[in-house]
Amino acid sequence: MALREYHCAKCGATFERLIRDERDERRVTCPTCGERRVRRRLSRFSSRSAESSAKASCACGGNCACKAG
Ligand SMILES: [Zn+2]
Repeated sequence: MALREYHCAKCGATFERLIRDERDERRVTCPTCGERRVRRRLSRFSSRSAESSAKASCACGGNCACKAG
């Protein structure tokens, strides 16, 4: 689990979300306007983020938790 900080592309709000897994992360929406296009902000915690963002760009060969195909 990780507390991550996001920035809404629509209304500019920043907010934090507790993320348990990649599916949680894909479901993050802005609490103010409901916008789904939110950007993760770099936080003070991360040095593992390079690894996890490589994982996030899934071309879906079936190795991940996404439901493509
Ligand atoms: Zn918003």
